[in-house]
Amino acid sequence: MVYTIREIVSYLEKIAPPAYQESYDNAQLITGNPLDVAKGILCTLDVTEEVIEDAISLGCNMVVAHHPIIFKGLKSLTGKNYVERTVIKAIKHDIAIFAMHTNLDHIAEGVNKKIADRLELTNTRILQPKKEILSKLVTFAPLEATEKVLASLFAAGAGHIGEYSNCSFISDGTGTYTPSEKSNPHKGSQGKPHKEPETRIEVLLPSYLEGKVLHALKAAHPYEEVAYYIQKIENENQSVGAGMIGELASPMDENQFLSFLKQKMDLKILKHTRLLNKPIQKVAVCGGAGIFLLNQAKKSDADIFITADIKYHEFFDAENQLVICDIGHYESEIYTKELILEILSRNFSNIALYFTKVVTNPITYI
Ligand SMILES: [Zn+2]
Repeated sequence: MVYTIREIVSYLEKIAPPAYQESYDNAQLITGNPLDVAKGILCTLDVTEEVIEDAISLGCNMVVAHHPIIFKGLKSLTGKNYVERTVIKAIKHDIAIFAMHTNLDHIAEGVNKKIADRLELTNTRILQPKKEILSKLVTFAPLEATEKVLASLFAAGAGHIGEYSNCSFISDGTGTYTPSEKSNPHKGSQGKPHKEPETRIEVLLPSYLEGKVLHALKAAHPYEEVAYYIQKIENENQSVGAGMIGELASPMDENQFLSFLKQKMDLKILKHTRLLNKPIQKVAVCGGAGIFLLNQAKKSDADIFITADIKYHEFFDAENQLVICDIGHYESEIYTKELILEILSRNFSNIALYFTKVVTNPITYI
């Protein structure tokens, strides 16, 4: 069984939909021909020239990274900086670079779940669920077609709420219409007012699937014209969003927890605010630069908030309400390459999968 780069990309985009990335992001296929057959895949946090060399030596023609090597448009490609040199090297060696970045941060089984698992947190949930990424579809079907329409909507991705699938609301009623002289009605006759026992079907769906779900509705529905309403709703999607919060099986005192954290995340150093002489049980995490979630961590009664890239003045905002801890951007996200490999290995058992041994952290400690 061989797979093209496009097939790998479409699988990864089902797991971490590009629609869930932040507006500034560039999570997509960045270099490479989607029609090439994937020979081997190298998973990495960052893409650098050394990572591309690692891919070449392992016989991989695809690199799946967390951080996109290109964020903004490149106006020239002359090799004047590491970004251009990395891209040039990848193109010269026919290596596809694919990035799954903030979209991988935002899914329930993503970057932050990996951190939560390393810290043995239980009862994990998204710290700040995303709003306005869901739509509601209302449609009407003749009684005998209801099951077929529902099955088609569910297969297209509608009707998932948290751990529940095939969710819908169905009520019975009567539809009315008068077919025109040019119509070809499934029920009723041209020019005659008609009443038909119908069901009203309501389902939720991720907004980015609107096109697919409407296509599935029209394909399964017996009517020539399908009546429906679709609207964006404000509800939070509990399984998509930034950061994660969970609990330790039993509370630890603060120093004990900080040692545990250093050991589990393999840290040389960490920075933290004043200890509060309170046990740690509720732990909020966000891989990478996550201080924008501080208020959410406070509102959720976290005892400690672990993230990276915190500025001096931002440490003051702990206000003795919780401990803020900066473990380093690289250190907080390095296990993402294992996560990407795990995701790939669920579906592609016969493609060689590696994670890079290259240490891409630009920061060293003395
Ligand atoms: Zn990052």
